[in-house]
Amino acid sequence: MNRIWEPRAYADAPRAQCAWALDAGWPALEGDAETEVAVIGGGYTGLSAALHLASAGVSVTVLEANAPGWGASGRNGGFCCLGGAKAPDAVLARRFGRAEADLWFEAQKRAIALVAGLIEAHGIEAHVHSDGEVVLAHRPRVYRGFGAEATWLEARGVRAEVLPPEALAERGLTARGIHGGLHVKAGFGLDPGAYAAGLARAAATAGADIRARSPVTAIRTEAGSYRLATPGGTLRARCLLIATNGYSSEDLPPWLAGRTLPLQSSVIVTRPLSAAERAAQGWTSDLMAYDSRELLHYFRLMPDGRFLFGMRGGYRATAGAEARIARKIRADFAAMFPAWAGVEIAHEWSGLVNLSRGLTPFVGPVPGMDNAWIAMAYHGNGVAMASYSGALIASLIRGETPALPYPSVMQAPLGRFPLGRHRRALFFAATPLLWLRDRL
Ligand SMILES: Cc1cc2nc3c(=O)[nH]c(=O)nc-3n(C[C@H](O)[C@H](O)[C@H](O)COP(=O)(O)OP(=O)(O)OC[C@H]3O[C@@H](n4cnc5c(N)ncnc54)[C@H](O)[C@@H]3O)c2cc1C
Repeated sequence: MNRIWEPRAYADAPRAQCAWALDAGWPALEGDAETEVAVIGGGYTGLSAALHLASAGVSVTVLEANAPGWGASGRNGGFCCLGGAKAPDAVLARRFGRAEADLWFEAQKRAIALVAGLIEAHGIEAHVHSDGEVVLAHRPRVYRGFGAEATWLEARGVRAEVLPPEALAERGLTARGIHGGLHVKAGFGLDPGAYAAGLARAAATAGADIRARSPVTAIRTEAGSYRLATPGGTLRARCLLIATNGYSSEDLPPWLAGRTLPLQSSVIVTRPLSAAERAAQGWTSDLMAYDSRELLHYFRLMPDGRFLFGMRGGYRATAGAEARIARKIRADFAAMFPAWAGVEIAHEWSGLVNLSRGLTPFVGPVPGMDNAWIAMAYHGNGVAMASYSGALIASLIRGETPALPYPSVMQAPLGRFPLGRHRRALFFAATPLLWLRDRL
């Protein structure tokens, strides 16, 4: 496999202290096997696609390099929320037209509903909490824009409430340096690992064959079908779905080279906070929240009293870079939540999110390959959108017109980034500008 981060980003080390459990009890592929649809990658995208295909009676095998949920799906912040693109709405309206930009927003709402429906239908114990999420203004001018944003959301069927600074304190949402909030009443928090494990079980129950420790090392075409090589065996399939997102290889398939930009995101989780400790900080709400910075922080008090805090990750995937980001994330956490500055951190980890050049996700056929499909690039917001994209691509693979909205925003094939294998430098170059914008 040919990937652009240091090998450590693809090893177990960054997730060794993760708070979410991993279900590693799936068998590896051994010997030669055959299936109708082969899915490469066992995160939300691949598992949701497998579940929807198997439920429709299609023979499907998931090949996961590690264990289901090992990638971003089993190590994220657990915000099941609106999102999936980084391009602002005005840009999307210019590029795709107002109606398509609105359809994209509708898809985001439907994605949240889809996850809620899957959790309910398959009895997944995902420790759900939080009625939507709160955006916290890090600058007074951001707060002044919340009224217009609330009107925009309400016009699209999402209830939204502007929270002046005094309302934040009343609702147990006190963080330092915040000038007001916007409560967006869509989405909920969940245990991401439990959700991934539940999806894998549901897919298997529906008939999907799930294989762990089965990294695909080569894709060959042979007499109108695909032959996938793994260390333990090969899988022949008529159709292929690439669901590897931030953990993709430049050569699987070669078309993907240079077309995504994986970036690290880091998370810490405290030990359970007592009621007195929560009151001392003034943060007692179970609402998930993030601040309005370009280089944003996201956080939520979980049902068991632990507090999760996440932000961008390091520029490199080395032990030294991880130590630096560990210091940085603790400093940012202490700056926003000073009463908890000395609280023990029980878990910390990082993983790869994935960006596209157009800052929109792509769900569709792989150009130049017959019966090969791809779904990825959710810009750090894939709990809902990856699950949705898996359901969407299952319809496309079956040759159906999807019942779910399939906006053209999701149909623009991934463009190539400049700088080839060195494209991570784009993020290093952009970070000081984003940092500066956060201070203006
Ligand atoms: C730290 C962090 C915090 C995040 N927080 C949030 C959040 O709060 N809310 C939100 O909506 N989103 C969040 N995200 C993003 C979200 O987790 C992802 O968008 C989503 O999980 C993507 O799912 P996926 O299935 O497409 O990819 P992944 O879950 O990354 O799965 C890809 C899988 O492909 C496998 N793979 C790769 N190559 C091969 C191969 N050759 N053969 C076989 N298998 C292979 C990998 O092992 C991996 O398991 C976060 C991400 C991170 C890293």
